[in-house]
Amino acid sequence: MSELQDTARRLLDEGLVQVVIGWEEGPRGARPVFVTSAADCERLIFDARCVHNLATFLNPRRSQITALGKAAVVVKGCDAKAVAGLLREAQLERAGIVLIGVRCGGVAGEPATLAPPALSAETVSARCWGCDVREPESVDMLVGEAQPEPPVTADLDERVAALDALSPAERFAFWTKELSRCTQCYACRQACPLCCCERCIVEKTEPQWIETSPHPRGNFAWHLTRAQHLAGRCVGCGECERACPVGIPLGLINRKLQQVVYELYGYTVSEDPAVPAPIGAYATDDTQDFIE
Ligand code: SF4
Ligand code: SF4
Ligand code: SF4
Repeated sequence: MSELQDTARRLLDEGLVQVVIGWEEGPRGARPVFVTSAADCERLIFDARCVHNLATFLNPRRSQITALGKAAVVVKGCDAKAVAGLLREAQLERAGIVLIGVRCGGVAGEPATLAPPALSAETVSARCWGCDVREPESVDMLVGEAQPEPPVTADLDERVAALDALSPAERFAFWTKELSRCTQCYACRQACPLCCCERCIVEKTEPQWIETSPHPRGNFAWHLTRAQHLAGRCVGCGECERACPVGIPLGLINRKLQQVVYELYGYTVSEDPAVPAPIGAYATDDTQDFIE
């Protein structure tokens, strides 16, 4: 990955950015790193363990990161879609960031290994199925060799279809059981690049919209709200599910929402911020006529 390191070094040397956000080798595998000097650029890596969506660090409310100065961020294609989401919602200015795209052949579901794993149907992340952005186009520069397609993995659409095939009572029972394990730790929110509200609704106490103690009523309220707030915005990076300490299959909710948004509005999430998302666009042929 000398091309990545050389690119980062040049950006820092020329003063074009003050920090490069990328990945480095950690004691338990790849982890995010904030490189502020050209001499440290040799720490930067990119391989199949670099699963983290670093766009989450561009949330302008992460003041400890904005204080570092103008950032260059290393992005896979799915991460570039999240950056586009932040740009689309005016959370960022394009001139205020530099995007270093990496050619991607897929990432592992589990990044905590000391060497890059060989990707197989068993080890590849579910996010990589059907990926259409392995060479992101919205970036300022693209580095790395062309990569082979990731191995075919379990199709999230098939898992969603299996849930759709259940009766409403069976589906409710499925989600009641899954969500009963939620501790409302909000790791899913913290990992999500699009969960960037100044004050999350779960932290509003006057009135309290969502009960924050982890019991079924509060958990349902939290997950229904979270899902609706991400409808048409979620890029399917899978980081919320990976962050969840109790293994709740949030990807099933996210994927179902993407399907519904496509059926209703013909929208699929794009790495082009100029493509309007339904939440911020008005159309006279909206299927819901109350809006006219
Ligand atoms: S979804 Fe695409 S860009 Fe993202 S890690 Fe998988 S193959 Fe790479
Ligand atoms: S909801 Fe999950 S999958 Fe969607 S953008 Fe946020 S972290 Fe990624
Ligand atoms: S990370 Fe998991 S346990 Fe924590 S709030 Fe999210 S779904 Fe619940």
